[in-house]
Amino acid sequence: MLRLVLASANPDKVREIVALLGAVPGLELVARPSHVPEVVEDGETLLDNARLKARALRTATGEAAVADDTGLEVEALGGAPGVESARFAGEDATYAGNVAKLISELDRVGAVTPDRRRARFRTVALVAFPDGDELWAEGEVRGTIATDPRGSAGFGYDPVFVPDDSGGRTFAELTSDEKEAVSHRGRAFRELARRLADRG
Ligand code: IMP
Repeated sequence: MLRLVLASANPDKVREIVALLGAVPGLELVARPSHVPEVVEDGETLLDNARLKARALRTATGEAAVADDTGLEVEALGGAPGVESARFAGEDATYAGNVAKLISELDRVGAVTPDRRRARFRTVALVAFPDGDELWAEGEVRGTIATDPRGSAGFGYDPVFVPDDSGGRTFAELTSDEKEAVSHRGRAFRELARRLADRG
């Protein structure tokens, strides 16, 4: 049985990761110990930040740790907010504040039609083992940014992200199972689970 300490302190992400990895045979997920301070996510890439978070938990606990980092990349904004997705509207930004800033930035650059509002979510999920070994996987989902928020499920930018082939529904209008089937995080963690299984 492989014990994996979850590095994320974000309950919305933890809920999704537990749903994705919780049923994988041979894996036991352990909650992040509350005494471990959060790391400063100052890496330049999603991989850097996932690694920073997983290594910090591995060092603090001596156990294998799993972390993910996610970014929303919007074509008309040159790939922003990307690695800055959590703090797009400022250091203590709320989800609603980030969504409002995204909509206003797209208005500012005149990206009105769906083909000018193309975007993708990308997630890197990484396991850091006590012996220094690391394993990681990436997942992405493509879609468009809606002009107004819709739906009440999910979190973050979900109310404005319309994945391709969803019949025009935003992530926040999908069930958690529907989101997980196509999402960046779903794809990254399913691939990570396959790689963990191959490692034995
Ligand atoms: P993190 O750096 O992985 O914690 O994620 C950065 C930010 O991206 C979060 O604060 C959310 O605003 C956003 N985000 C991450 N995952 C999702 C998702 O699945 N849906 C919508 N927004 C997300």
